[in-house]
Amino acid sequence: MTCYLKENYDVIICGAGPAGLYAANCLQKASAGKLSVLLVDKKSPWKEPVACAEAVSRKIFSRYWTPKEEWIRQHLNGVYFTAPDMTRVEYFQKDCGLILNRAAFHHEMADKAAELGVECHFENRVSALAPAENGLWAVTVCSGETESVLKTKVVIDATGPGAKISRRVPGLDALETGDFDQESAIFAIAKGVPHSTRHIELLFGQRFFEGGYGWVFPRDGETVNVGLVGGRDFLKTHPPRATLEKFIQEAYPDAKILAFHGGAIPCGQSEHPIAANGVFKAGDSASTVNPISRSGIVEAMKSGKIAAECALEWLSATSEEERREIEKSAYDRWMKIQGKTHLNYSRGKSGFARISDAQFNKAAHRLASIPVEKRSIFRIFWAVLASSPSILWKLKSFFI
Ligand SMILES: Cc1cc2nc3c(=O)[nH]c(=O)nc-3n(C[C@H](O)[C@H](O)[C@H](O)COP(=O)(O)OP(=O)(O)OC[C@H]3O[C@@H](n4cnc5c(N)ncnc54)[C@H](O)[C@@H]3O)c2cc1C
Repeated sequence: MTCYLKENYDVIICGAGPAGLYAANCLQKASAGKLSVLLVDKKSPWKEPVACAEAVSRKIFSRYWTPKEEWIRQHLNGVYFTAPDMTRVEYFQKDCGLILNRAAFHHEMADKAAELGVECHFENRVSALAPAENGLWAVTVCSGETESVLKTKVVIDATGPGAKISRRVPGLDALETGDFDQESAIFAIAKGVPHSTRHIELLFGQRFFEGGYGWVFPRDGETVNVGLVGGRDFLKTHPPRATLEKFIQEAYPDAKILAFHGGAIPCGQSEHPIAANGVFKAGDSASTVNPISRSGIVEAMKSGKIAAECALEWLSATSEEERREIEKSAYDRWMKIQGKTHLNYSRGKSGFARISDAQFNKAAHRLASIPVEKRSIFRIFWAVLASSPSILWKLKSFFI
């Protein structure tokens, strides 16, 4: 049974993934520990497996959290783009990315939050959120068989895809539901897959990856994370698990699959508000994933920071009008730093899904003829367009 330190909090953060953990750290740092902040999650954030391929851009991630060797699985020097005919094109950029051990990274973030004064309770599930008296929120939290109702001024909903806790709640009906353009991603941890420990590999082609892509990401030098995410429209023709199994059997006949994992990814930028009446949403629960790359770790941290900043301002606001303005600004702040780009990607996504295998192959052959040291992202982009000008038409929403 959990003993909470208080019955009334300034902020309750629901969900301790990257969004909630980062929000907790930002909030307590910015308020110099003066706020009462409770962080709850239905599981311990360091519990394995974390359903994720765990790749981040080193540069962007480092702006938010200092990477530590203890929780870095691999340092990356590039990407292999693999066409449907298995032509592999290398893009080299030293130290461009990291494969994290997310469980260990979450552990460090949670420890840091606790050190800063955040009250953390894991294995505690939020079962209900409801408006309470005096403009407070009542958050029902279950620990084993015990149910506690805690009150708070502000809620940060960082409960990930689907954001079930803030659905169908009076006063929150207009909010983003965290399932915008939701897709299924699946991966296997496997041995016996030839790979580079310094590169991630992204695979394209309609047979296995229609509307999405496949990946092979290194882990410990021996095992890989091999998976796929497909467009929502292709779920029936490409059931994720069967498609992945078939791909692995064909591409890596010597592979030994150790485990399968998967999860949902909300991959579109919605135009719904992400805050109302003192509830702020962050990360997947606010649909902040990059619609094309489907990366969401750093995005979750960025939006966790926005939620924390808004919560702080909201708590010191002196009028209802000011509070409504702060809530409205949460979406604008997200749009400014990331959402606008995501909106364009989201609109261009269907065009990306219509690029044919022949077009991918042609682009890969052209790229393969450029020496690796001359393959900048800019050059790759133009080589792809030049090999198939109709791609430009399919991707027009990226530009206009
Ligand atoms: C297969 C797969 C591969 C991916 N690969 C990558 C990748 O390589 N790189 C990348 O950047 N992104 C990747 N992503 C996306 C990334 O994992 C997410 O975008 C990211 O985890 C979002 O963080 P979050 O904090 O918003 O949500 P989450 O990480 O989902 O955290 C939400 C937390 O809320 C908790 N929770 C949920 N409901 C409740 C409740 N009722 N009460 C209490 N707690 C609750 C959950 O237990 C969870 O800990 C991948 C996703 C999938 C599914």
